[in-house]
Amino acid sequence: MSLFTPTASWVTDEHHMFADAVSRLLQDEMVPNAETWIENGVVDRAFWRKAGEAGIMGGSIPEEYGGVGGGFGFDSVTLYEQGAVGDVGWGYGIQTIVMHYLVAYGTDEQKARWLPALVSGEKVGAIAMTEPGTGSDLQNVRTTAKKDGNGYVINGSKIFITNGQSADLVIVVAKTDKEAGAKGVSLLMVETEGAEGYRRGANLKKMGMKGNDTSELFFEDVKVPADNLIGPEEGQGFYQLMKQLPWERLLIAITALGCIDYAIAETVKYTQERKAFGNRIMDFQNTRFKLAECKTKAEVLRSFVNDCIGRLEEGKLDAATASMAKWWGSQIQNEVMHECVQLHGGYGYMTEYPISRLYTDARVQMIYGGTNEIMKELIARSIDT
Ligand SMILES: Cc1cc2nc3c(=O)[nH]c(=O)nc-3n(C[C@H](O)[C@H](O)[C@H](O)COP(=O)(O)OP(=O)(O)OC[C@H]3O[C@@H](n4cnc5c(N)ncnc54)[C@H](O)[C@@H]3O)c2cc1C
Repeated sequence: MSLFTPTASWVTDEHHMFADAVSRLLQDEMVPNAETWIENGVVDRAFWRKAGEAGIMGGSIPEEYGGVGGGFGFDSVTLYEQGAVGDVGWGYGIQTIVMHYLVAYGTDEQKARWLPALVSGEKVGAIAMTEPGTGSDLQNVRTTAKKDGNGYVINGSKIFITNGQSADLVIVVAKTDKEAGAKGVSLLMVETEGAEGYRRGANLKKMGMKGNDTSELFFEDVKVPADNLIGPEEGQGFYQLMKQLPWERLLIAITALGCIDYAIAETVKYTQERKAFGNRIMDFQNTRFKLAECKTKAEVLRSFVNDCIGRLEEGKLDAATASMAKWWGSQIQNEVMHECVQLHGGYGYMTEYPISRLYTDARVQMIYGGTNEIMKELIARSIDT
């Protein structure tokens, strides 16, 4: 199983070597522990640090901040390999998003202060956009950041925040000007350790993705220095969010592909072993046709994902194409999981079989990162110009 298509022009020998190293680390350190993380509802901090030590977290982060200094292709490899061992608990995708906000908009001081710790796994990042009253309609966030002396005071609450229990660094989307609509939105970094007025809600109980901590976060007069504003001036938040969305959307499709490859491999194994009416389940034409359909969907997605990674590396991935990757990838993932559960029969419904977990894990991919309806809206806008 591999992310790469044979003809993808962005792929180098380094990417292949990196993929081998990531895969080894995940087999050794993730696979044996994933069940425990699911039970605990959170990935061990020790794993974050091991991933950092192995150098797999800073694929696209400049070397001066501890990274590998490559492009998005390296992050893509890590995310694919994670899916390909059937894990969605480790919130590495969010960690890359936080790092890329800093790379793109952080001051030199902010980069030096936060990036090395995010690359090494010493600190875990989160991005807090969604609020109880505002999800898709991001412009209408209620959280405020009011200028106060040489800093800001943040008030508000966020919900469904990935890595919410673990996060040391939270990028908070807040209104610095309530009257200015999208132009009043800014991004501020909250350093959670010892932050007065900052509170984590419960680790939310979810249908799937149970190894990840997803939380409500509360901000009650939380003070941050003016230096924690991401970017040179206030009011840039919405623009910054929009500019980073192509990666956030593509990474969902990459994870989908990894999970699909894993699910198909598990289902092939199962249907080769299980017998009914004296035959292997694999010998029924229905099984062969369903798996042929799943495999075709995976290969079409692989080609598209590779094309999108190549475009992103060249700075040419537009919002509409990234939205296509997100909705299509997550849609195909859900279709494949549905068929793979069916081919497992009753065992596919039992949590001891990985396919049942992959099925419930897949559902949220159609919801977060912008719902698939919002993706279609964005694509439609690019048609109806
Ligand atoms: C497990 C999980 C992890 C998450 N992680 C994060 C995170 O780390 N950070 C973060 O900020 N958020 C996170 N989210 C939040 C996620 O991004 C939002 O749930 C999502 O954007 C949808 O917002 P909502 O839940 O408020 O739904 P709503 O916006 O209320 O939407 C409800 C329904 O209405 C539809 N709808 C809304 N507007 C339109 C429209 N204009 N046209 C057509 N249909 C529309 C939606 O598609 C959806 O079907 C996470 C969510 C989950 C479940």
